[in-house]
Amino acid sequence: METIFISPAEMETAAKLIQMGETVVFPTETVYGLGADAFNPDAVLKIFKAKNRPADNPLIAHISSLDMIDSLTSDFNPMAQKLAEVFMPGPITLILNKKPGVPDAVTAGLSTVGVRFPKNEIARKFISLANTPIAAPSANISGTVSATTYADVKRELSGRVGGMIEGEDCEFGIESTVVDVTKAAPVILRPGSITLEMLQSVFPDASLHPSLLSDAAVEKPASPGMKYLHYTPKAEVILVYGDRKKIAAYFEEHLQSEECILLFREEFQSFSKNKLSLGSASDLNDMARRIFKRLKQVDLLEFERVYIPAVEETGVGLAVMNRLKKSSGGKAMYL
Ligand code: AMP
Ligand code: MG
Repeated sequence: METIFISPAEMETAAKLIQMGETVVFPTETVYGLGADAFNPDAVLKIFKAKNRPADNPLIAHISSLDMIDSLTSDFNPMAQKLAEVFMPGPITLILNKKPGVPDAVTAGLSTVGVRFPKNEIARKFISLANTPIAAPSANISGTVSATTYADVKRELSGRVGGMIEGEDCEFGIESTVVDVTKAAPVILRPGSITLEMLQSVFPDASLHPSLLSDAAVEKPASPGMKYLHYTPKAEVILVYGDRKKIAAYFEEHLQSEECILLFREEFQSFSKNKLSLGSASDLNDMARRIFKRLKQVDLLEFERVYIPAVEETGVGLAVMNRLKKSSGGKAMYL
């Protein structure tokens, strides 16, 4: 299939593709999305085909203003409204009871729908011109690392989608925080850049789904997407636990030519082809912003193995480690 490459100045073309039932890749502040008209089941099925996505993994409905939420749910309850007021537009997805008219293709047959109101200007303009909620998962082949740069998404999905809107590198770099707002208090199903601590500042009873608290496999995943192999580059990923100065010193000596390592700026003097920067250790948003781009870079540079220092699982560190534990399939070393 021929993909139309679209500059932000030509967004009517993208809207037209959506109205014709085609798929369009678009930038957001989290990761690039692969969208279609949420109310056109045939168009939504094209997303699953383009990504090789399992049919039981639901998509997120993206809106360009809160007015649009009424087409998706009749249960925009006070808790959801409060979270929307504080965190929307932004990197958060609210799980709400769906209206019957929302196609099963979007929700994978669930009675709930994920709703997100992105902050990214291009995303909002695109949705508003399309004049319909845009159902979208991350723009990547299922199981691989999400795309956070236009170059990455172009390389991976050209020829598989109807259109592709050019944007900047994603501001947050990891997928949205998914929050179930159908219960008595908010429950995080997937951690992201809106952290548990941030949610608790609004709702002290906000909690993490139990499956996020233990590394052990759980019978029932928090959110359907969580059970699949995810975020895996071709290279073997090994998480390294321990004092990070010690880690840097160890690999200064032991790194093999087919291996590379990701390191924080303060903990390393010089970066090179096999020592890639995670940004500043003092702000884990920096690591979140870069992590998927780095994992893709590791494959482009054809390294066989990448070592990544484990970080504390609080704040956005929880979200980064959630992704990296999946990337590594549990492989870790301790120094
Ligand atoms: P992606 O952003 O590519 O990971 O895809 C969207 C993700 O949102 C899915 O994998 C789910 O984890 C989550 N999601 C979407 N809709 C629902 C829902 N109704 N209930 C729980 N999780 C959902
Ligand atoms: Mg995804």
